Amino acid sequence: MRAGEITPRMLMGPGPSDVHPRVLAAMSQPTIGHLDPQFLAVINDIRDMLQQVFQTKNELTLAVSGTGSAGMETCVVNLIEPGDKMLVCINGVFGQRMRDVAERAGAEVTAVERPWGEVFTADEISSAIRDSGPFKVVGIVQAETSTGAAQPIAPISEAVHQSGALLLVDTVTSLAGMEVDVDGWQIDACYSGTQKCLSCPPGLAPVTFSPAAVKAIDARKAKVQSWYLDMTMVRAYWGSERLYHHTAPINMNYALHEALRIVLEEGLEARWQRHALHHRALKAGLEAIGIRYLADPDHQLPMLNAVSAPEGVDEAEARKRLLNDFGIEIGAGLGQFKGKAWRIGLMGESAAERHVTSVLKALETVLVEKGILEETGKAVAAAKEVYES
Ligand SMILES: *Cc1c(COP(=O)(O)O)cnc(C)c1O
Repeated sequence: MRAGEITPRMLMGPGPSDVHPRVLAAMSQPTIGHLDPQFLAVINDIRDMLQQVFQTKNELTLAVSGTGSAGMETCVVNLIEPGDKMLVCINGVFGQRMRDVAERAGAEVTAVERPWGEVFTADEISSAIRDSGPFKVVGIVQAETSTGAAQPIAPISEAVHQSGALLLVDTVTSLAGMEVDVDGWQIDACYSGTQKCLSCPPGLAPVTFSPAAVKAIDARKAKVQSWYLDMTMVRAYWGSERLYHHTAPINMNYALHEALRIVLEEGLEARWQRHALHHRALKAGLEAIGIRYLADPDHQLPMLNAVSAPEGVDEAEARKRLLNDFGIEIGAGLGQFKGKAWRIGLMGESAAERHVTSVLKALETVLVEKGILEETGKAVAAAKEVYES
């Protein structure tokens, strides 16, 4: 086959997730200018819809040009000036990445760590602040995609704000797949990505900044380290001035616009419940064939199921088999879990019964061939039971 001729897959890794045909159709609309009133109407709508999805009234809410990591970098470089103190909570790859980004921005970083698969308590954050604070910013990941652990944010928020710090939260994997309540949890800066539970191709990073975060940005003495991600300039394009800064990725914004419409048509609560249901079914199926989850049982993400690959299975070979023979993509382990884990995503359009059943059938087939299971059928039956109950 010629490169560029793409066979569809069932995307069940850590992102991208399956994209709705409506989103792909929206992307293929005519490219127009970034100051065309038709396009400005699109980004106005995107801001309104992002406010609904983030559950915030924050005026500084927009889609950064770039993937989720650009969202991370945007939040960090706008809040941090060289020498500012930042606490970063690390229990997986994305906490590590946040530390790296913060150090490059000149922050004086203190890291607080938990074993992979576990989450932080408010007490741990408070004592880190007492021991090494005060900090200007405390950064934490809500949905740690490398481990499948779900970090509760509300209890942390209190501890952070009592100390006078700003709370920065990574919601790349959580947004639109589980509760994210920016105003209710008093998050000061928050970023996401399009290709996880928003089910849009990768390319934009929704971000939102609270009034307190905007105040910190306005009070900066040093220019923002990144020219491209400087919110003091980008906001002049997204705001009423419409000042040119860089050309908005026009067709990507069409895609996000349509993806957000789909999210809001379904409703946030219904969408979170759908992710939770398919997680329960997948988990019942996997556990029925002896596959174990890596994250703390009380804090497991619905949309990212990180599991131990069974003894005696070459995890990479099994993933390859799933992709080539079943058309299903699942993710490999990252960092500490490299070579030992599978990460099965149920994000956005990929959180569906057809996906759960297909991946369970495929895994059972592979495990029977390897002599690890005697027969197929148990996993799918256990998942069915969840759907029928
Ligand atoms: C995927 C992911 C990112 C990075 O997003 P990219 O779109 O790959 O740049 C950051 N944080 C978390 C928690 C993620 O899952």
